[in-house]
Amino acid sequence: MDIESATTLQPTELVDPFGRAISYLRVSVTDRCDFRCVYCMSENMHFLPKQELLTLEELDRLCTVFVHNGVRKLRLTGGEPLVRRGIMTLIGALSRHLIAGSLDELTLTTNGSQLPKFARELADHGVRRVNVSLDTLDPDRFRAITRWGELDKVLEGIAAAQAAGLRVKINAVALKGVNEDEISELVEWSHGAGMDLTIIEVMPLGDIGEDRLGQYLPLSMVRARLAERYTLDDIDYRTGGPARYVRVKETGGRLGFITPLTHNFCESCNRVRVTCTGTLYMCLGQNDAADLRTPLRASASNEPLHAAIVEAISRKPKGHDFIIDRRHRRPALARHMSVTGG
Ligand code: SAM
Repeated sequence: MDIESATTLQPTELVDPFGRAISYLRVSVTDRCDFRCVYCMSENMHFLPKQELLTLEELDRLCTVFVHNGVRKLRLTGGEPLVRRGIMTLIGALSRHLIAGSLDELTLTTNGSQLPKFARELADHGVRRVNVSLDTLDPDRFRAITRWGELDKVLEGIAAAQAAGLRVKINAVALKGVNEDEISELVEWSHGAGMDLTIIEVMPLGDIGEDRLGQYLPLSMVRARLAERYTLDDIDYRTGGPARYVRVKETGGRLGFITPLTHNFCESCNRVRVTCTGTLYMCLGQNDAADLRTPLRASASNEPLHAAIVEAISRKPKGHDFIIDRRHRRPALARHMSVTGG
């Protein structure tokens, strides 16, 4: 059977035990990255051997089965998705679901470093918007946060994406004592360039060789500080993700907050995540997982894979309970964000 044989199976709506329909799949296509952000990875990461990774064709099959069963939004992430060799082949192949109308959106979360090279091709494959992670506009600070990154390359990537007609949303992780004095600058810069900005609370994922409490800045505090300077009007805008948005009256732009710690957003969760080795995590913040690589490799038919996905969704937990405080300095989960896919 080939990839399209998924469509000969009867679709099963993926609804979890709490009645939440799963319409959004995030796929980590590689655990590798050209940056080493201090809150995401340790400096000396061990990456997976190639044979552990799903091939591009296996990733396509997997995504196709999810789309067949009602997933309407696909986000490729990592690691850095644009450093996966052959990634444009996968994106080109997945774009057939956009053309067929069975997928509403194919998008990426990227650090932007490879966008000068790939932005045009992404747009040609039907990608309409990308999220670019950028925590600071200061080159020295940027290098300190990413350990290896060059700010100029990312800014060039953002410009290339916009020139190719892609909408860009900036994601910034709020880090205590690192970029907390720069949040309003990020707001004004993003909005000035026609981009939404989302601020993310640092999550206790993976051992990064540092103390999480040292990084943690509650967004309630960020918001309160911004409110001293700007008028923040709550709006209903949603992108299918967990961010809650305000309109900043003075800039006219949208500002999102992702607050897994100060306000857990699980009640409306419509997402699941697959790692680059084919492990399905039904919740970013829980350990329960399902191995999809074995059924994927066991048969050329998609039936075992389909059955494994349906079974796993029936176990999706109600939510996570991240805590960072003085008693919980260690990671809540051992796996890094780069493994599960941010
Ligand atoms: N390399 C891509 C990028 O930089 O966007 C995609 C993968 S990265 C893991 C996805 C997002 O997760 C980035 O916005 C990153 O800042 C965020 N992230 C990583 N570790 C995090 C953590 N512990 N808490 C909150 N956000 C985290």
